[in-house]
Amino acid sequence: MAQNVDKHVLWFRQCRTCQAAIIWAVTVSGKRMPLDAKPEVRFILNEDTGTTSARKTYMSHFATCPNAAQHRKPREAATKT
Ligand SMILES: [Zn+2]
Repeated sequence: MAQNVDKHVLWFRQCRTCQAAIIWAVTVSGKRMPLDAKPEVRFILNEDTGTTSARKTYMSHFATCPNAAQHRKPREAATKT
């Protein structure tokens, strides 16, 4: 199955906190999510035929960003006294 990714939907950017190259993509539920721009090649195994097909996969940048906490600031930020 060909996955036709519309290039216009993807935004190539830099993470504003760690400066890593990221891609803003859209989830199936319509939310924007940042991905690491560098893909990892993984293989999909078809257990019926014993064949594999390579797929590019991307990590969520929320998982790899060293400053991820800054991306989701809590509403009550720093109210400690
Ligand atoms: Zn980052």
